[in-house]
Amino acid sequence: MALYVQKYGGTSVGTPERIEAVAEKVCGFRKAGHDVVVVVSAMSGETNRLIDLAGHIVDEPSPREMDVLISTGEQVTIALLSMALHKRGCEARSYTGAQVKILTDSTHTKARIRQIDGERMRADLDAGRVVVVAGFQGMDEHGNITTLGRGGSDTTAVALAAALKADECQIYTDVDGVYTTDPRVVDSARRLERITFEEMLEMASLGSKILQIRSVEFAGKYHVPLRVLSSFQDGEGTLITLEDDSVMEQPVVSGIAFNRDEAKVTITGVPDTPGSALGILKPISDANIDVDMIIQNVGADNRTDFTFTVPRNDFKRAIDILERTSSQLGAREVSGDTGIAKVSIVGVGMRSHTGVATTMFEALAGEGINIQMIATSEIKVSVVIDEKYLELAVRALHSAFELHQPERDGGDK
Ligand code: ASP
Ligand code: MG
Repeated sequence: MALYVQKYGGTSVGTPERIEAVAEKVCGFRKAGHDVVVVVSAMSGETNRLIDLAGHIVDEPSPREMDVLISTGEQVTIALLSMALHKRGCEARSYTGAQVKILTDSTHTKARIRQIDGERMRADLDAGRVVVVAGFQGMDEHGNITTLGRGGSDTTAVALAAALKADECQIYTDVDGVYTTDPRVVDSARRLERITFEEMLEMASLGSKILQIRSVEFAGKYHVPLRVLSSFQDGEGTLITLEDDSVMEQPVVSGIAFNRDEAKVTITGVPDTPGSALGILKPISDANIDVDMIIQNVGADNRTDFTFTVPRNDFKRAIDILERTSSQLGAREVSGDTGIAKVSIVGVGMRSHTGVATTMFEALAGEGINIQMIATSEIKVSVVIDEKYLELAVRALHSAFELHQPERDGGDK
């Protein structure tokens, strides 16, 4: 007997038939004797539809009202799923985020969860009911409805699993696990049996959009075992977990992630004085623009060039801000490029291996691909290249690191 928190995403509840299929699955777990808390997303396309509706009224809707609006999608699916469960003789109750006291801060449209009161859910579970909770939403201390950012139902699920000390948080989605890279780009991409939180975090933040990044952070922090599986086919999926010491030899590289959603901005000829990086980046962060890779080159004349990447849809804002900064700091020029892509190799095994970056650069050079920016962390090497060569780069790296080969189980266990 285990307690599972299961999250079903938008495609998994995209039609009444699919909602019925989810109900079947959940009933199966109940019949096997498990306790289940289900978190659902809105039916696929619904959140976009709601956002679009608001756009027909005003260009910049009030964030508070936006949350009232976009949280409705999930309220539809919890009710429908509960009805489908009842129809199968499975006792269930649906709840909005506020009803199960998912308390968040007041940052509308990207609120953070502060606290969850598991009491009501536990009482239902004890009474033999399935608890069905609307993902993506909560309530602030003043009783306002909040939402957790796009894809936020994943975070709801992990947070509930942490609060209820669930045995596993299972994210049911339209893919059957986490792959070595996007199978649409590389035919031989392979499903991973397991991956560490750290690797998943890098993969997710680098654009493998299976899970909301925040949900992985949360799971890592509270040690919630997280499993990604398909709603549509049986299988073990991929378990995201702590590093496993019983696996003697971790693969050096576990996966290749990529991201086409970034743009590059450059400010050249900035006087090289203490505080110049701050002067450039603070206005950007004050505008809530996420900065990713940063490089700074010092030139000969005590001036420095500064290049960084931002989300592509913030490109224009970033350039506008930099133009202003540039005249304030007496810099030379501001330029940018949206035709870039970032490709990264990720693996905890890098910690104990040398020459990993060299293999990467060799593979790219072998294809004649120019590297524009490089960044590394303990378990990742990222490069920015011309977007045109993205797929070629991913394929070259996938084979250079032999990711099509099954995982070695690393000798004695
Ligand atoms: N419905 C929300 C969205 O599309 C939340 C989610 O699906 O996780 O972003
Ligand atoms: Mg999602």
